[in-house]
Amino acid sequence: MHLMSSPDQQLLQQFEAIVGPAGILPGAALAGRSAGIWSGQQLEALALLRPRTTDEVSRVMQVCHAAGQVVVPAGGMTGLAGGHESTAADILLSTERMNRIESMDARSRTMVVEAGVILQTVHQRVAEDGLMFALDLGARASCTIGGNIATNAGGVRVLRYGMMRDQVLGLEVVLADGTVVSSMFDVLKNNTGYDLRQMFLGSEGTLGIVTRAVLRLYEAPLAIETALLAVPTWDQVMELLRYFDAALPGALAAFEVLWRDFYQLNTGPFSSIEPPLDTDTPFYVLMDVFISDIDQGRAKLEQLLTSCLEQDEIVDGALAASETERGKFWQIRENFEPEQKKFAKIYGYDISLPLETMADYVESVRRELIGRFDDAELFAYGHIGDGNLHFSIYPGQARDRDAVDEMVYFPLQALHGSVSAEHGIGLEKKAYLKYTRSEAEIELMRKTKRMMDPGNILNPGKLFDL
Ligand SMILES: Cc1cc2nc3c(=O)[nH]c(=O)nc-3n(C[C@H](O)[C@H](O)[C@H](O)COP(=O)(O)OP(=O)(O)OC[C@H]3O[C@@H](n4cnc5c(N)ncnc54)[C@H](O)[C@@H]3O)c2cc1C
Repeated sequence: MHLMSSPDQQLLQQFEAIVGPAGILPGAALAGRSAGIWSGQQLEALALLRPRTTDEVSRVMQVCHAAGQVVVPAGGMTGLAGGHESTAADILLSTERMNRIESMDARSRTMVVEAGVILQTVHQRVAEDGLMFALDLGARASCTIGGNIATNAGGVRVLRYGMMRDQVLGLEVVLADGTVVSSMFDVLKNNTGYDLRQMFLGSEGTLGIVTRAVLRLYEAPLAIETALLAVPTWDQVMELLRYFDAALPGALAAFEVLWRDFYQLNTGPFSSIEPPLDTDTPFYVLMDVFISDIDQGRAKLEQLLTSCLEQDEIVDGALAASETERGKFWQIRENFEPEQKKFAKIYGYDISLPLETMADYVESVRRELIGRFDDAELFAYGHIGDGNLHFSIYPGQARDRDAVDEMVYFPLQALHGSVSAEHGIGLEKKAYLKYTRSEAEIELMRKTKRMMDPGNILNPGKLFDL
């Protein structure tokens, strides 16, 4: 328990003078609030601050800078690497009241938003003008644009549109000392020295607080077709990725793979979804194709699927017949309820590695895991079109997180893979950053952090220790 000293009380009074009574919740008022949908832990902080404007954020940071007060920025708290975790001595700075869409320009296909706007709100607004925002992920209804920027989120459209860093044209951030750096450009090309904006994408709240952004929008497709394929071998999975990408140039917008046990879990007794295809094929591919001509697009896809069946590239396939069915196919990929219902504890992983090595890597981790903890289970799936693999591992009764982490992360060094493809490093993967980044790279990151935040008050201890 953190007992409040009078310097703490003075600080809280200063914050209240900046954000107003509705903008501050002292630590004692946070009882019963959870620290995020995944953590199951109780939220802890000296106070939760909810500024409304960039100016308020800047003034809060000036106070924190002068007092050496630690600040943890928070958006929707859906992060999966522990980046938003705070202690009872920290100020948790939430963007929940900075949730305005400031403007949208359909002709230049840009939108200006505050950092606390929910991703799904952006999707809904741009759809009204026939446009699309390319970032999409399972936590869309809770995660914020600021959090997406801070984690450089990936999701299900990376294959075609890239990660969050490709969707941000302009950015405004508040630095540790309260300085506002505004680069709110809305042009695609801007070759004027260092791209400072990109420093903050993926910095996990350690270099600055994102307050506003200019987002890049795209024309929405006329329709999206979704197919589910049962594929016998990994070689065929890789062949199919090339085959569809070549046959439907620029239209393949998602290529997800579910290993058999993940597919079985998410269509089995703990799920409400009936399996659309048999449950006994080693791999299932879930594919989204963006269609620009509804009749011809669907007909072409049907023809391609038939040809795959005839050539034994797939054992079965289904093309979603309606939006409801599309939703069901995607639920098999995105629904985490079955694993939560079946297992008391599950460890999640998010890594990347070359496609050629992926299937062997999965089997070797599985062998090692079960060799050491015979009641453990492994479920693999992921954004395979991007080389991004996810695992859900039930660790068995032993629950030795360090041992399981080491089994997953250590082999990635030799395979030139990454310990985090898209979720970030946060607290969870700090010890394993060295498997992906060299000492020289980590030292340069440390130097950058020391230069931008000499007091180490912005999300300290996340990503790496100084
Ligand atoms: C069901 C589910 C599915 C998911 N799928 C994906 C996926 O496919 N791809 C993917 O990349 N991620 C995925 N995630 C992870 C998560 O949704 C993303 O990391 C998301 O970008 C986090 O946004 P947030 O607003 O919740 O950020 P938070 O969780 O609140 O914070 C994440 C990090 O960003 C920092 N931060 C937050 N806001 C700001 C700000 N304004 N300024 C500076 N720093 C800030 C925090 O300090 C923390 O370090 C998934 C999560 C869940 C629960």
